[in-house]
Amino acid sequence: MDFRLTEEQRMIKDMTRKFVDEAVAPKAEELEARGEYPYEIMSRMADLGMMGIPFPAQYGGSGGDWVGMHLCIEEISRGEVTLGGLLDVTTSVVAQELYVFGKDEQKQKWLIPMARGKEIGAFGLTEPEAGSDAGATRTTAVRHGEEWVINGTKQFITNIGLSNASIVIITARTKARREGEKDVINTFIVPKGTPGFSLGKKYDKMGWQQSATHECIFEDCRIPAANFLGKEGKGFAQHLAVLETGRISISAMSVGMAQACLEASLKYARERVQFGKPIYSFQAVSFKIADMAMHIELSRNMYLKAAWLKDNGMPHTLEAAYAKLFASEMCERCASDAFEIHGGYGFMNEYAVSRYYKNCKILQIVEGTSEIQRLVIGRNLQ
Ligand SMILES: Cc1cc2nc3c(=O)[nH]c(=O)nc-3n(C[C@H](O)[C@H](O)[C@H](O)COP(=O)(O)OP(=O)(O)OC[C@H]3O[C@@H](n4cnc5c(N)ncnc54)[C@H](O)[C@@H]3O)c2cc1C
Repeated sequence: MDFRLTEEQRMIKDMTRKFVDEAVAPKAEELEARGEYPYEIMSRMADLGMMGIPFPAQYGGSGGDWVGMHLCIEEISRGEVTLGGLLDVTTSVVAQELYVFGKDEQKQKWLIPMARGKEIGAFGLTEPEAGSDAGATRTTAVRHGEEWVINGTKQFITNIGLSNASIVIITARTKARREGEKDVINTFIVPKGTPGFSLGKKYDKMGWQQSATHECIFEDCRIPAANFLGKEGKGFAQHLAVLETGRISISAMSVGMAQACLEASLKYARERVQFGKPIYSFQAVSFKIADMAMHIELSRNMYLKAAWLKDNGMPHTLEAAYAKLFASEMCERCASDAFEIHGGYGFMNEYAVSRYYKNCKILQIVEGTSEIQRLVIGRNLQ
């Protein structure tokens, strides 16, 4: 078994780490406080080719792999987790769905600008009545001649509020073609600016201030038949297939943020003196740090294994769920321990650990809660 990264993967990791240390981490506090999207940072990420790592050059990518993509997501999230979320939703979910299930015209129109980072994508699965039970979709799509007419509401949609978000890929219920058969869920590409598609309020969130999360409202929204994505009746399965990669991405984001907690804790524990010694010399503190480091390394190995299986065309449902569940829960523990190691300063906004604490919990919710990961794991072990 060879655990070494390839030259290209190592290059991606090093380049992203350097970029984060120079251009992202020093600005992260200010960005979070302002709650505005850092378009300038995003455009530099696009220039560095980050959004297109796993796609071939013909579709605007760099022909890399999903291991490389996730090393990039980990490093970016070490600096600012919402930028990791931007890569997760745009590359791992939306662009991948276009790449795997799209027709060539759809790839030309939407995948290429997305892989080049010129446009951003959003995916719309969650609805007021369909959260963990995502198959309970109530949004409908009805065929009228050469158009589909969409009605319904999607909620908590990441990225859609960004000015360069081009499309949202949604699931919607359509009538079965044959008498006596059940309705099916299909997938549709809805460009921003389509009449009948509007954004609801921007959510007032506890963290992730920059991810421009909104409701998407569809009222007799007409899209061309050409915007139907993938195979008839397979829309839900398509969405779930790319969400599997999304779970690997959430694991990489969790590892990145936990690594930031570890680095902040190490620095603080070496500098802070109590009882005449740096607090690192107290075993109660250094044991916390040792546990953090060990769990981070374990979680990193788990997401890399899931990404490697994906790159090698092997099943990875179970490994993606293990990684997502373990890494997101691990990240919360690291954020809590980092907060405690900082004592009262952990509660102060000027210390990054307060931001990590606010931003970690949601990693256990998005792209399937911890309970849903346990359901997936249980089902696959039966
Ligand atoms: C910041 C943010 C960004 C998001 N971005 C997107 C996005 O871009 N696109 C998108 O489509 N969605 C997005 N979501 C939605 C997210 O995926 C859902 O919030 C998540 O799947 C949980 O759904 P819910 O909130 O309706 O909770 P519910 O499904 O109502 O769950 C509530 C609780 O019940 C538990 N539960 C539910 N069913 C079961 C069960 N069968 N067994 C055991 N426990 C169960 C859950 O684990 C949870 O603890 C986002 C959410 C947030 C907060």
